[in-house]
Amino acid sequence: MRGDAAYHPLRIDVGAPGAEEQEHPMREKVIIIGSGPAGLTAAIYAGRAALRPLVFEGFSAGGLIPGGQLMFTTDVENYPGFPTGVLGPDLMKNFRDQAERCGARLITQDVSEVDFRRRPFVVRSDDHTVEAHAVIIATGARANWLNLPNEQRLAKSGGGVSACAVCDGALPTFRQQELVVVGGGDSAIEEGSYLTKFAKKVHLVHRRDRLRASKAMQERFFKLVEAGKMSPVWDTQVIDVLGDSMITGVRLKNVKTGAESELPCKGLFLAIGHTPNTEVFRGQIECDEKGYIRLPRPGSTCTNVEGVFAAGDVADHVYRQAVTAAGTGCMAALDAERWLAAQGIE
Ligand SMILES: Cc1cc2nc3c(=O)[nH]c(=O)nc-3n(C[C@H](O)[C@H](O)[C@H](O)COP(=O)(O)OP(=O)(O)OC[C@H]3O[C@@H](n4cnc5c(N)ncnc54)[C@H](O)[C@@H]3O)c2cc1C
Repeated sequence: MRGDAAYHPLRIDVGAPGAEEQEHPMREKVIIIGSGPAGLTAAIYAGRAALRPLVFEGFSAGGLIPGGQLMFTTDVENYPGFPTGVLGPDLMKNFRDQAERCGARLITQDVSEVDFRRRPFVVRSDDHTVEAHAVIIATGARANWLNLPNEQRLAKSGGGVSACAVCDGALPTFRQQELVVVGGGDSAIEEGSYLTKFAKKVHLVHRRDRLRASKAMQERFFKLVEAGKMSPVWDTQVIDVLGDSMITGVRLKNVKTGAESELPCKGLFLAIGHTPNTEVFRGQIECDEKGYIRLPRPGSTCTNVEGVFAAGDVADHVYRQAVTAAGTGCMAALDAERWLAAQGIE
């Protein structure tokens, strides 16, 4: 669950560019954009391949901070290698330390512009213009929230509000409790049916009178309704989250009648989509209709631009887990290394 980030990453002061850099930009073998599990795993692998990767670890783009989404969570219980769990910020500090030990250099700035139409590619931040033969994009995605004040407060304090059922649903606090899921698409049904493994009952609050989910997912939902494990609350929006340190319920509003009511619950899970952090790459690289980077070759991290690779949540709207992000970060570094070698750049 989201918690106050205890770890604030070190800022590496690479200095403002001198006149020389303005005239002759630094030229890198590989630049990595993003410092979540995908970007830092790519940095570890590229570092060990002696590519001396330069990582733009971000600053505040997409509402994220260096270290990525896990900086906003408390316990991570499902990252392999930590049998008793690990705090998100501690895990990301380990990633970062390991990347630096492997030779990665980090700039704590957001990339504000890229030019993938020329080679070497150009990557710009507020203070730096850098050329690179290869680029790995790992800028992640952000969960969409309702942006209600109490929702944000309880999400940040681990008070029972989450945007990831797979991450948090198995926590003891949600077991055998009444839970609420907001949304009406495939992920809402996916998350809701996952929660039925632990919950007493899952209420699906949806602002329309029918689901947007695929036929197969709708069938799954109505079977769970028949079994008494889920129940729909149609035409309804959550307008407030109740509770001081832990959620005790939600306030609802029927969008057709305007009637307000309260639904007691011990957990609120948002499943209203994610927004990939690809604004800065618009027009430079092919994305799908939701803005996720397209990977045209299955089983590889190659994008439609030769020499540009993408890893993690920025190209994955299906799994969205730290371990899958790290896995594709590894793939991106290996793909970039092989591509550079084929160009004679080692
Ligand atoms: C609250 C919460 C709890 C979660 N808990 C779990 C869990 O328990 N287990 C699990 O497996 N997964 C969990 N997840 C999901 C997991 O965090 C993500 O799947 C994972 O972090 C994705 O990694 P990533 O590297 O692709 O991107 P992110 O972690 O999203 O990192 C993206 C990085 O890109 C940087 N960035 C963005 N734009 C720019 C730019 N323009 N220039 C430079 N840098 C930029 C950001 O600063 C950030 O460093 C959780 C997610 C959330 C939100």
